[in-house]
Amino acid sequence: MSRSLYDCAMAMVCHDRILCYRGYKLDPRANDGGIATLRLERGEPLNFAVCHGCAEFESMGAPVPKEERGWLKLYKGGKYTGVTA
Ligand code: SF4
Repeated sequence: MSRSLYDCAMAMVCHDRILCYRGYKLDPRANDGGIATLRLERGEPLNFAVCHGCAEFESMGAPVPKEERGWLKLYKGGKYTGVTA
């Protein structure tokens, strides 16, 4: 089953990182297993292999619609800044 961090209540923000409350590594290459919150701010998909089929997935209800994800705005030149309207 395809899941994202927008769907699971076990995804938590800790300072500038997003971690799995259950201790699973979202990014196996990262020392803490987490990812940068910047990816959330940009509204990136946040789909991770470890979440697919995870027995400890805890639904937050309906997934956050794509148009409501992220709050940074992409400007020409590839820079993110400001907030969406
Ligand atoms: S689906 Fe599993 S690995 Fe992914 S955030 Fe939820 S509990 Fe953690």
